[in-house]
Amino acid sequence: RKDVGHISVGSKGFNDLIAGGIETQAITEVFGEFGSGKSQISHELAVTVQLPEELGGLDGDCVFVDTENTFRPERIKQIANGFELDLEDVLQRIHVARAFNSSHQILMVDKINELIQNGTNVKLVIVDSLMAHFRAEYVGRESLAVRQQKLNQHLHSLQQIANTYNVAVFITNQVQAKPDSFFGSPTKAIGGHVLGHASTYRIWLKKGLAGKRIARLVDSPHLPEGECVFKITNEGIVD
Ligand code: ADP
Repeated sequence: RKDVGHISVGSKGFNDLIAGGIETQAITEVFGEFGSGKSQISHELAVTVQLPEELGGLDGDCVFVDTENTFRPERIKQIANGFELDLEDVLQRIHVARAFNSSHQILMVDKINELIQNGTNVKLVIVDSLMAHFRAEYVGRESLAVRQQKLNQHLHSLQQIANTYNVAVFITNQVQAKPDSFFGSPTKAIGGHVLGHASTYRIWLKKGLAGKRIARLVDSPHLPEGECVFKITNEGIVD
């Protein structure tokens, strides 16, 4: 892959774990229980993608597909302050798209294509959370095959945006806490194989002691497995 770019997640340890930040032309999935930091990292990236390259960004815009009403401009303000960026500028470069159901979420990808074709320099697409609507709408064993097929289609079109326009795709996936099962594979149960195979990078987030968080890189095609500790602060994600 040519011209792969990286977007800083704010913490040096975390960036080192994933070889410099989340990658363009790839889908990065973070999964973890409620409150593990998935939305916080999403907010951080929505700001850092706007930074110049030497500061860990790609000088680009972000599309934030919000499925559970988690987007918080106030939080963006705190993070933007930490980087001494102008809030209005930063908010203007975050294109928030609320997805009301899974079909709407799937159609959103066409809108993102249009936005880019109309000249917006999108370098990051966030879907927070990927699975919520799908899980709520397709319940029961008999609907599982349809759900996986729709999800597959959705992920495929996200990957296409990533490849065509050199964009990073960041998706969040909520899973139940499973103590002592770091080597298990919770996404197999929740997202199924489709999700497991569609994401280039998968990061497991866990709550640690004293407000700390642990990120573990799992199933990466060319990076070693490993983990790091990070913190969520008012200014965003730090070591
Ligand atoms: P989820 O994985 O469910 O998306 P979040 O990313 O929303 O979880 O994380 C929520 C957690 O982030 C809160 O429980 C809190 O611990 C932490 N958090 C949120 N805002 C701040 C802040 N300004 N300062 C420190 N920690 C924060």
